[in-house]
Amino acid sequence: MGAARPVPAPRAPPPGPAPAPREDLVAGPAVREKLAKLGIRSRFDLVLHLPLRYEDETRLTPIAQAGTGEPVLVEAEVVEAEVKYRPRRTLVVRLTDGQSDLWVRFLNFYPSQVKQMAPGRRLRLYGEVRPGFFGAEMVHPKVRVVEEGAALAASLTPVYPTTAGLSQATLRGFIAHALDTLLLDDTLDAALLDRLALGPFRESVLLLHRPPPDVDPASLAERTHPAWRRLKFDELLAQQFAMRIAYRERRGKAAPRMPDRHTLTNALVTSLPFALTRAQRKAWATIAHDLGQPHPMRRLLQGDVGSGKTLVAALAALQAIENGWQVALMAPTEILAEQHYLKLAHWLEPLGVKVTWLSGSLKARAKKGALDALARGETQLAIGTHALFQDEVAFDRLGLAIVDEQHRFGVEQRLALAGKGAEPHQLMMSATPIPRTLSMAYYADLDVSVIDELPPGRTPVVTKLVDESRRDEVIRRIRESCAEGAQAYWVCPLIEESESLQLKTALETFETMKATFPDLAVGLVHGRMKPDEKAQVMADFKARRLQLLVATTVIEVGVDVPNASLMVIEHAERMGLAQLHQLRGRVGRGTARSLAILLYHQPLSEAARARLKVIYESADGFEIARQDLLLRGPGEYLGARQSGAPLLRFADLERDADLIELARETADAMIGGGSHAVERHLDRWLGHRQFYLKA
Ligand code: ADP
Ligand code: MG
Repeated sequence: MGAARPVPAPRAPPPGPAPAPREDLVAGPAVREKLAKLGIRSRFDLVLHLPLRYEDETRLTPIAQAGTGEPVLVEAEVVEAEVKYRPRRTLVVRLTDGQSDLWVRFLNFYPSQVKQMAPGRRLRLYGEVRPGFFGAEMVHPKVRVVEEGAALAASLTPVYPTTAGLSQATLRGFIAHALDTLLLDDTLDAALLDRLALGPFRESVLLLHRPPPDVDPASLAERTHPAWRRLKFDELLAQQFAMRIAYRERRGKAAPRMPDRHTLTNALVTSLPFALTRAQRKAWATIAHDLGQPHPMRRLLQGDVGSGKTLVAALAALQAIENGWQVALMAPTEILAEQHYLKLAHWLEPLGVKVTWLSGSLKARAKKGALDALARGETQLAIGTHALFQDEVAFDRLGLAIVDEQHRFGVEQRLALAGKGAEPHQLMMSATPIPRTLSMAYYADLDVSVIDELPPGRTPVVTKLVDESRRDEVIRRIRESCAEGAQAYWVCPLIEESESLQLKTALETFETMKATFPDLAVGLVHGRMKPDEKAQVMADFKARRLQLLVATTVIEVGVDVPNASLMVIEHAERMGLAQLHQLRGRVGRGTARSLAILLYHQPLSEAARARLKVIYESADGFEIARQDLLLRGPGEYLGARQSGAPLLRFADLERDADLIELARETADAMIGGGSHAVERHLDRWLGHRQFYLKA
């Protein structure tokens, strides 16, 4: 290869914790601890601790008009109070507002409360009035003793999320103190706010904590009030700033330069039996450029199932290798890692590249040999699952870490792999496209390339939704197709609750299929098999020694057998959209017309019906992802695996898409102007909320 061995850059400090928030609470340790449970560590946190709902104590309602089902404030005088012991201990109070009587009952009460209910006392009671046995009735209202003509609240009374042992009154006191003592001046200038039609910060938070009685309650509950918009905007803007700064910091870090030397990369391109698609060439050119830079690449390569991301990854790997660096390729499952290994070894070994598969199932001796070769730098490309970032794995000079199906890994796992090198370049790949609003909010610190084209000669997969009762027709279809030389998958139902039940079902399905198709060679692959057993079955299927492969969803990603043109998915109604799309992507990889049959069982839930409709109507991964996001909402869409991703507290990615766009434009303009306001804004929002920072 001839490249001089590069000097690795010094190891970067590990991504540290977020800066500590200013702890400026004026409170004793016990209260402090309770507040911390609510995520409140500073006075500014108190300002951002917004009400869950409001109580209207700004006006009195006559008892006679109170039974509307809404909680109201009533003022009345105690006529009599009595503790009853049957059927259980109850304090029963009769009051009157001069026109009507009101019966109030308390089940748990203190002696002091009984005293409070002395005849002639004037009380204000907040709660719901319902028709009772004797007349209008309230159970456990909020009670306050008042003088005649006492002032009413000037604004709606906020009710805050709280925790055991911290009363609303205490919390309100702390928040009021914070609101009154902090300088809630604006971080955005008036002209900008004008242009964005947003109100001042101080007025906005004050309105949310102390809304005037005439405010439209729905706009508060639905968070559409202009005051809410201002807070959401500020939050989104801080997030955009933080991500741009993370991005810039990365540009300031040193990483090994590995320019395209066109030796190994060209050799691979000429050895292929096909030409790169236009989209592959474009993605590859961008990555080749990134790798030649002295800064770490963080690129997300998105491309629909079957778009040929592996080849682009192989080219990136070769560019690192021809510059004398080692490469790691991590995949989420053994099957996928093995498929990658087979494919890449097939492509790269003829070029003299040493490729290793670090399988969890390697025998101790073989494993030690593989690890040694990696640590000595003899192995140039290591392929594996999570096994790759275990402590025992050491690289001599890791220059590029590639993560396939990146959304299946947590942020920490990705970092652990990258931590095996000084400051390796990172290429992340995903067939689960991130819709635009999500990527703007979550991936602004990554560069994104998209492969938006499938290799030529693919015939689109025809999808059929078939009721389980028509299973016979499906069986006939398999028999016909296999007689014509095609191969088929039979995907077993997903049983989320129980892995052992899932295994049992797979084994049963396998037996049934063998009995149904005595003249076909039937194989079985499932998650509990040893990796080398799995590998053997997959190899048999690929070599056409098997015609029908019964499989669990382990074949969801990466399996690549072009001759397989028929897939049956059982209980498709139980599967998620991304999963169905991935599974269906296992067929339609050759030139034969392919068919995916989704068997479903009645009755279908509303959600299942919606999912099946989407998968039936669309073959486009991006459109499916968009629909998936709509059906599930962003939190669930990103899933627990993305737990490292920053969360938004106020803004909603779906409903506030317009604000995200505004925040993005504003962030660009403000950062471009090198504005001092950027720092002030970040200073206000960062440190209070560690989730705006990301490794
Ligand atoms: P994915 O993007 O889903 O990971 P793969 O990389 O597995 O897709 O590619 C799917 C199949 O297409 C593989 O068999 C691969 O060898 C083949 N392939 C990749 N690029 C091309 C191309 N430009 N022309 C024809 N076939 C290609
Ligand atoms: Mg792939």
